[in-house]
Amino acid sequence: MAYADAHADTFYRVALEQLDPLAEHGGLHVNLPRMRQAGQVLQACSVFTPRSFSGEPAEAFARRILACIHDACACHPKSFALCGRRDSLPPVPGGPVALIPWLEGAGPLRGNLSLLDEFFALGVRGIGLTHNHANEVADGCGVPEPRKGLSEFGRELVARMEALGVAVDCAHLPQPAFDDVMSLVRRPPIITHTGCRALVPLTRNADDAMMRAVAQRGGVVGLDFYPGHLVPADADGKLPEAGSRHVADHIVHAIDVCGREHVVLGGDFDGFEDACSDLHHPGELDNLRRALGQRGLAETGIEAVFSGNLLRYLREVLPD
Ligand SMILES: [Zn+2]
Repeated sequence: MAYADAHADTFYRVALEQLDPLAEHGGLHVNLPRMRQAGQVLQACSVFTPRSFSGEPAEAFARRILACIHDACACHPKSFALCGRRDSLPPVPGGPVALIPWLEGAGPLRGNLSLLDEFFALGVRGIGLTHNHANEVADGCGVPEPRKGLSEFGRELVARMEALGVAVDCAHLPQPAFDDVMSLVRRPPIITHTGCRALVPLTRNADDAMMRAVAQRGGVVGLDFYPGHLVPADADGKLPEAGSRHVADHIVHAIDVCGREHVVLGGDFDGFEDACSDLHHPGELDNLRRALGQRGLAETGIEAVFSGNLLRYLREVLPD
């Protein structure tokens, strides 16, 4: 069964720590042997720039991550291929894993629409408008009382992204900016990686109304595997152990809210240290398949969540 994933920070770590995405025990959650083990056909690759890199350093670091993605595809064409158009979407049986560069936070654009065109030319096909902090587009979900919705630049950015065929990603967006995006978009939006706020009450997690709004516009919601989003912390702020059964709880809830056709996986591998006890990397995804089966999800439903829905979404959003 194929696996397509909407969010991993693997190439951020490749760029930052000079790690090898082909080595099985090179320190990354996601690497080629584990992708093959998981039947992975596609990975949206987060181009994440930490808050301390705002302005020109953010742009420079984003370019560095993109260069690492390009290098992996150029040096290992049987293993990885850049995917930027509908006709380059997988699956190609036995073919390379499709990589889609995806900004996590629009900081590298520095409030400049012409940089969107440059990043598009470098293969970027999705943009998470903010991370946790504020940027030129909006306040992020970590800002204690986000008052603003989208800035003027943010509005122009969303329109230009849709014209180019760049997915509008609402992960990490607080309510006011999220509402603005929903009123602006004409094409299906996405939340690439989140938990369900109905199960774990964090502002970082999407609530039922947000998930429904995305689904109603033909979009998809990606559930992540980060224990901090999956189980509530105890009174001391410590996280209890989490496992694939908790991921399954969030997936089943999202399906109840959005419908089976609108739920995907965005594991956030390489974006956290303490993983689920039985889901450390893509090679362990059979544990999640089993947990979903035990929750009564049919094989066709599991397949839709594991790859079919994300591929359908991208077929609709990517340019010809
Ligand atoms: Zn994130």
